[in-house]
Amino acid sequence: MTNRYAWMDEEWGRLEKIAQSRQINTVDSVLGERGAWIRVSGRSLLNLSSNNYLGLAHDPRLKAAATEAIEVWGAGATASRFVNGSCSLYTELEQRLADWKQREAALVFANGYQANTGVISALVGRGDAVFSDRLNHASIVDGIVLSRAEHYRYRHNDTEHLEFLLKQHRNARRKLIVTDTVFSMDGDTAPLAELVTLRDRYGALLMVDEAHAGGVLGERGEGLSHELGLHNEVDVIMGTFSKAFGAYGAYICADQSVIRYLTSKARSLIYSTALPPSVIASIHAALTIVQEDTSRRGRLRQMSSWFRKRLNTHPFEVGAGSSPIIPLIIGDNEKALQYSRMLEERGIAAVAIRPPTVPVGTARIRFTVMATHTLSELEWAADQLNQIRADLEGERG
Ligand code: PMP
Repeated sequence: MTNRYAWMDEEWGRLEKIAQSRQINTVDSVLGERGAWIRVSGRSLLNLSSNNYLGLAHDPRLKAAATEAIEVWGAGATASRFVNGSCSLYTELEQRLADWKQREAALVFANGYQANTGVISALVGRGDAVFSDRLNHASIVDGIVLSRAEHYRYRHNDTEHLEFLLKQHRNARRKLIVTDTVFSMDGDTAPLAELVTLRDRYGALLMVDEAHAGGVLGERGEGLSHELGLHNEVDVIMGTFSKAFGAYGAYICADQSVIRYLTSKARSLIYSTALPPSVIASIHAALTIVQEDTSRRGRLRQMSSWFRKRLNTHPFEVGAGSSPIIPLIIGDNEKALQYSRMLEERGIAAVAIRPPTVPVGTARIRFTVMATHTLSELEWAADQLNQIRADLEGERG
């Protein structure tokens, strides 16, 4: 008998050897509304690995909205948005999103992965060129591959390199520049003003992914484009509801022509069931809080910069920026895993992020701060890390 799965075992073994195999972590329960503590394998851990930046995932207002919608609309949408799966909550949400972003229209997608793959593969195709920051999220990369357009990766936030590539490929039929606004594994931000200038200079389109900026940046949590006053300059603004919104799903905001075109062309939207109405209802509740609760956002910023400064210690770096994403760059995969394990032993959930999610040689612990963490929790976590560092590196913090 031949083992039909031998090649899979072989590949898994290879990944295991270079500390790049993955395992799914099971959370036993979430302890309390703040979402700051979780139970894993019977132990309580301070959660410093969540994208729940504003601490809304367990907010009673989101839960109540979802429960009410389940009573009215049932558990599932039953079909795609084109086949009776789009209840009135959807249209109301898209109107609210367009108003919030001060754009002509909005379109909700099932999640960020589907938004990026669906939108990019509809905007460009064979004979076109996409210019993408080399640290962009994997869903952007997959969207480009799916589109069959030529893929040109520019060095991270390097607009000179981008311009060099734009010049070189100026004859491509259509050109699309695409970037994360807050980079998911580094927490730094894109040079949007320069990207807008290059978009204009080379007759391209500009798409931004605000997944980690939504709810976090901007006066009313609109994102980096708003914070910089460039929201009307960007052609397609994409964002998600799975992070600061504490829910699930994604959206794009753009001019009506773009939204109308994508509604008829984005295959991930057309050939997939609509999100359950309860999810849309919790997004409505989250949107109100994101827009109105500026103190929560202010607190998140304060705590994030405090924690970043507290961690900025030799021999590692914590990256630039002021976002709640704070990467402790360790380098080696195995060592990053060791830090993560030792943090867990001391009661802290902080996952090791390894290639291919980040470039080879830049494995890291990606800490994320939430508005609902307390200062003493963060202080305690920083102390734990310093002690581990002292044990492993022989350094005193
Ligand atoms: N874009 C970015 C920048 C992300 O970080 C993520 C999620 N990690 C996504 C898109 C995908 O979003 P979702 O989880 O909603 O599929």
